[in-house]
Amino acid sequence: MKNYLQISIINPNFAFQKKLSNMKTYDIVIIGSGPGGYVAAIRAGQLGFKTALIEKYNTLGGTCLNVGCIPSKALLDSSHHYEDASKHLEAHGIEITGKVKFSLEKMIARKASVVEQTCAGVKFLMEKNKVDVFTGVGSFVSPTQIKITPNKGKTETIEAKHTIIATGSKPASLPFITVDKERIITSTEALQLKEVPEHLIVIGGGVIGLELGQVYSRLGAKVSVVEYTDSIIPTMDRGLGRELTKVLKKQGFAFYTGHQVKEVTRKGKTVTVKATTSKGEELILKGDYCLVAVGRRPYTEGLNLEVAGVQKDERGRVIVNDHLQTNVPNIYAIGDVVRGAMLAHKAEEEGVLVVEQLAGQKPHIDYNLIPGVVYTWPEVASVGKSEEQLKADGIAYKVGQFAFRALGRARASMDTDGFVKILADPQTDEVLGVHIIGARAADMIAEAVTAMEFRASAEDIARICHAHPTFTEAIKEAALATTENRAIHS
Ligand code: FAD
Ligand code: NAD
Repeated sequence: MKNYLQISIINPNFAFQKKLSNMKTYDIVIIGSGPGGYVAAIRAGQLGFKTALIEKYNTLGGTCLNVGCIPSKALLDSSHHYEDASKHLEAHGIEITGKVKFSLEKMIARKASVVEQTCAGVKFLMEKNKVDVFTGVGSFVSPTQIKITPNKGKTETIEAKHTIIATGSKPASLPFITVDKERIITSTEALQLKEVPEHLIVIGGGVIGLELGQVYSRLGAKVSVVEYTDSIIPTMDRGLGRELTKVLKKQGFAFYTGHQVKEVTRKGKTVTVKATTSKGEELILKGDYCLVAVGRRPYTEGLNLEVAGVQKDERGRVIVNDHLQTNVPNIYAIGDVVRGAMLAHKAEEEGVLVVEQLAGQKPHIDYNLIPGVVYTWPEVASVGKSEEQLKADGIAYKVGQFAFRALGRARASMDTDGFVKILADPQTDEVLGVHIIGARAADMIAEAVTAMEFRASAEDIARICHAHPTFTEAIKEAALATTENRAIHS
């Protein structure tokens, strides 16, 4: 599309109509380079679309790579090594003479270098797939034109046949909390503290609170978790929350479930958190840091959605249909900015789905089979329906459960906490849900997802030969346990 500017209006000395350079036109423009956006861009490049990716920050990868999945796992791994060295190696006959020490500064620096390498990898993939990357805030000037405003320098407007909004999410807070980013912090600041808190008060017993709480607990902080509902990780099968509470308490966590936070104040280095139970009992906690981890909110600021006519729901999420198409037919939205789990792999699948649809393919996502993982140790992983969901939906189910303590592999590595629970249809034996807490649950859940994608029965899993000794044998045993309690080793 050609673009003309009536320069005469601006400067009468140039009383002619100057043709601007041709506006760049793309088949697909993606706004936001998180796992939703950058994966969509790669798939679009693979399928031969002329593709542009707009990212407001200088590094690609979004929340996940910069301040989410990757840096949190880097710190979880480092702190796990420290904990093993300082507490668990002796039991394996390994003696460390002298005190095991850590440097938080070095841990954070290692995390930063992991992030840097990972983000650089995405940049390379953009080049490889011939995706044009624009750095700046993308905002609609019409349903088919997007203006890019960089931090410095000139704005540029590009033309898009199709646009994918992949602008993700930001940490949510509570209306009465002022996040000062020093002592009252979100996950972003918690990933780069300069000191280990003495007492870290975590508001929210969800994924972020527990993962980052465990990092600092291992490094010596007292960690208190205040959770509104009556269980931690309340959206997962309740059996997992109960087991994780037990294990984390042994590790030193304090939990205040059933407490609604009402006030958070800071005086100097002290943060005071006040919460009440449903019976009106008051809890007052004092600490030196408070991590607010009460969820994330969809992020659409600066997009100028009104100009494009794109609608949002009452929670600020871009409304999409089953094809992830907004009410404006050439504009799609994916990832944290739309309904559903706020997970990197969900965003990735959605990015691929939109692009493949535009290529005339017929992709499909089964939202029931998107696994959820908490990377504490023991890890927690789930797929399908929980017992609570099945009960609420009035669906009959049978249960097979197998404890890791009965597994040779778990005893060999001294990782005996946890279990595998399989829920199956009592009539057809189809697996309805798999819930794991224990060592390596994050990787093991893939077997359950695969089985359920193929609508396996518990008997199917029970008949598959699992290598011995492995943690995955617990999945086979739990499957056996769903029918006449046929588990071999319990
Ligand atoms: P995002 O990753 O949020 O990316 C959106 C991008 O859009 C950002 O880079 C943003 O700068 C950019 N943007 C926004 N507006 C504009 C604009 N107008 N113009 C240009 N660019 C714009 N999920 C997991 O699955 N596993 C995990 O282990 C995990 N760990 C996490 C740990 C933490 C501490 C946090 C905070 C999150 C974690 N998540 C995890 C969640 C995961 O990070 C998100 O679900 C995922 O990043 C969502 O991807 P997205 O592409 O939708 O958006
Ligand atoms: P979350 O939804 O997992 O947990 C928030 C918790 O805060 C809930 O348990 C909720 O009941 C509680 N809460 C809400 N209001 C409260 C109040 N007033 N007082 C006390 N507790 C209160 O959210 P999160 O942990 O902030 O994580 C945000 C998102 O990031 C999640 O959707 C998650 O999917 C994603 N994430 C995923 C991973 C992972 O996959 N491993 C890791 C980190 C983050």
